[in-house]
Amino acid sequence: MIDLRSDTVTRPTPGMREAMLSAAVGDDVYAEDPTVNELERRTAELLGHEAGLFCATGSLANLLGVRLLVEPGQEVVCDVGAHIARAEMGAHAAVHGLTMRTVPSTNGLVEVDAVAAVIAPHAGPHLVSTAAVAVENTHNFGGGTVQPYDRLVALGELCVQTGVGYHLDGARLWNAHVATGVVLEAYGRLFDTVSVCFSKGLGAPVGSVLLSSAANISRARIWRKRLGGGWRQAGILAAGALYALDHHLDRLADDHKAAAAFANAVASWAPTAVDPTAVTTNIVVLDTGDVPAAQVAGAAQDQGVWVSALGPRMVRAVTHLDVTADEAATAGDIVGRVLTSR
Ligand SMILES: *Cc1c(COP(=O)(O)O)cnc(C)c1O
Repeated sequence: MIDLRSDTVTRPTPGMREAMLSAAVGDDVYAEDPTVNELERRTAELLGHEAGLFCATGSLANLLGVRLLVEPGQEVVCDVGAHIARAEMGAHAAVHGLTMRTVPSTNGLVEVDAVAAVIAPHAGPHLVSTAAVAVENTHNFGGGTVQPYDRLVALGELCVQTGVGYHLDGARLWNAHVATGVVLEAYGRLFDTVSVCFSKGLGAPVGSVLLSSAANISRARIWRKRLGGGWRQAGILAAGALYALDHHLDRLADDHKAAAAFANAVASWAPTAVDPTAVTTNIVVLDTGDVPAAQVAGAAQDQGVWVSALGPRMVRAVTHLDVTADEAATAGDIVGRVLTSR
């Protein structure tokens, strides 16, 4: 099988496993795991923040990051396709009692005017007050799209002017960095809170880090423990993430090339399904047209290619460490043929 369902399906390489095996560890609930501390320190430095908190998942890092900025009964504004709104099982509402207001976007890209039109920081006794704005970069359901930097800056200025917090869901910020050359710190410093993920394109088995001020991260530590997310000798996992930072960051460019190869192959059969020039990172979203997405995914699976049906007419393919550009092109041929075979 060529597995393009997600970049989370990668398995740790022998080198990564070795690094994990020999990791120095301690009790992270006492903040005494040297490898976790090193990961948090290095990630914070990379993103231009004071402190970091290693978390089991990106969903947990987002949950904590948003909670730092938004009190129960307040709202966070995000786009209609945001992972925090669509794919975190309602945790922000179910656990933290906050609401979300979503604004339309094209391919997940920030529309500063659309946010400005709804943002209401001190909404008074009748309406919900906005406490934060959240942005995703790259945008998952948008097709791995990279947020234009000037828009992130403009939205940050709006947040400062209106006194609301600014959260970045940077699960794939690494891909944005590699695609654009914008340094990680230049992205990170725009935001009050940032989450980055090590178990996607970077290929570590587990983990995300939340970045913010030292005071905020102290609060997030309490929330993490409260939610049952305190962990002990987590340095074994942090070692995988550190290894990924050292060895798997630059190679994300290969995943971007593989995604382009996949998209080109699909478009050679089914030009209306995807515009290959719009594929800039490791995610390809296909419009399956008249054919239900589940049918496309099922037929592709029968021929050895795994993709995800994420909407009635939406199929997603994601490239990663465990798939070559040639395999991606082969997969694109198979999916393209499926799209045109009825
Ligand atoms: C995968 C992902 C997350 C976090 O997912 P977990 O499965 O909880 O680690 C957050 N945001 C985006 C955009 C993602 O793609």
